[in-house]
Amino acid sequence: MPSPRLYVTDAIVLTRFDYGEADRIMTLFTPTHGKLKAIAKGVRRTKSRLGGSLEPMAELRVALARGRTFDVVTQVQVSHAWLRLRDSLESTATAWYLAELADRSLEERHEAEGLYALLRRAYELLDAGMDSGRVARWYEMHLADEMGVRPEVDRCVECDRMMEADEQFRWVPPLGGLLCSRCPGPPADRAGLSLEALKLLKAYQRLDVEALAGLRLPPAVEREVEGAMRDFLRVSLERDARSLQFLDEVRRAGDQLTGDRA
Ligand SMILES: [Zn+2]
Repeated sequence: MPSPRLYVTDAIVLTRFDYGEADRIMTLFTPTHGKLKAIAKGVRRTKSRLGGSLEPMAELRVALARGRTFDVVTQVQVSHAWLRLRDSLESTATAWYLAELADRSLEERHEAEGLYALLRRAYELLDAGMDSGRVARWYEMHLADEMGVRPEVDRCVECDRMMEADEQFRWVPPLGGLLCSRCPGPPADRAGLSLEALKLLKAYQRLDVEALAGLRLPPAVEREVEGAMRDFLRVSLERDARSLQFLDEVRRAGDQLTGDRA
């Protein structure tokens, strides 16, 4: 059965840029179609019906018509505006960061209900005033889960031994998480992680957000976990970046060949 020409979906705007005189092209994140590129025609004219509704950091109900290159936005309704999220610069910047992580880990037109629910929940939490660093770490940890690269925080990634509380360990993102002292790897001074930071990483995997919001922690431990998760995601998402780089190189080479022939 061919897919219908018109369809309606929930969506969050991940990125957008102006196109032509009055149009805008955007990356929409939807639960059932994953991310997709859509065009909103005439949206930058003051009289546009679509007007100010097609904003990021909000959940929208969007009607689209399938197009040759981009699907075309025909109607928009704001379901959740999350206006308080924009009250602080930090939570606004965090919201952009979370959208960028989603954008980088999503494939176009692939169902992504789990990740959609995660981003939506993170925006709700920011809007409710939860500390933006805690929201970001919680989101990063579950994003890794969604990508199938859950960080190992209990066992050694090499020998699979359960780590003892008093044991030396290292944090090695390229291997997937914890590495015990018996297995070969980078020296502890370059891959150290405090026991407190490890406990917090475990908390991000196990506790619900309400419990996480209530934790009282030394800022140094939060910074350590921020660095550990950043390193972890950098490694996990780099695979994509590298494949894109390769694709670009292939395209450039192809262009040169056609250019030579012309
Ligand atoms: Zn080991």
